[in-house]
Amino acid sequence: MEAEKSVDLPVIVAIDGPAASGKSSVARRLAADLGFLHVNTGAMYRAFTWQVLQNGIDPRDTDAVSALLETTQFGLDVGGDTAVILINGVDPGGALQEAVVAANVSTIAANPDVRSRLVAEQRALGEARSVVMEGRDIGTVVFPATPHKFFIDARPEIRQARREAQGLVDSIHDRDRQDTSRKADPLRPAEGAEIIDTSDHDLEAVLAIVKERLAAQGLPF
Ligand code: C5P
Repeated sequence: MEAEKSVDLPVIVAIDGPAASGKSSVARRLAADLGFLHVNTGAMYRAFTWQVLQNGIDPRDTDAVSALLETTQFGLDVGGDTAVILINGVDPGGALQEAVVAANVSTIAANPDVRSRLVAEQRALGEARSVVMEGRDIGTVVFPATPHKFFIDARPEIRQARREAQGLVDSIHDRDRQDTSRKADPLRPAEGAEIIDTSDHDLEAVLAIVKERLAAQGLPF
């Protein structure tokens, strides 16, 4: 990883958006170019969903899910460019992309106990070092005070096609519906976020838009 550029306090770049909007590719590249840590908060929700399923718990059983949460330790391996989430010391690895995890993660993510725990973990990370953090509520809930907010979107049929091209089974339409309609921290653009539709842009074009705004805000590009 590049040395962190000369900024005094930790800087938070918040990147939100629906499934398969292209936000992960943007976040990863941006973090590498800035020398910041990349944090994919979706992986945290997926990791805990995997843990719930491993324990044979029904994701809709909120009491059992909340009880498991209390005995679960979240760790982060921040040795590389991207934070790797550890559940009780274990990296779930490729299991995070399994169809059964994708099918249940939005149910788990709607649980307010799960959200408040993971939001606290995410804030602790961003207070310690500069990050590019991607998710659904980073600009609205986790770091509402950061001026560096983006909402990355794309037309639904394009997003579905991108997932299929990755060879992944993922009901993104159902996840988006659950993520936008839940009571706790629903997916929506944060106030002041720059909304970028990636349907007709490649990664380099989207990165150029993001960097132009960050440069105008005083970040070193
Ligand atoms: O980003 P990804 O598609 O891996 O996220 C998986 C799921 O995790 C989302 O569909 C959403 O339900 C949940 N999530 C969330 N808040 C975040 C990040 C992800 O609710 N900040």
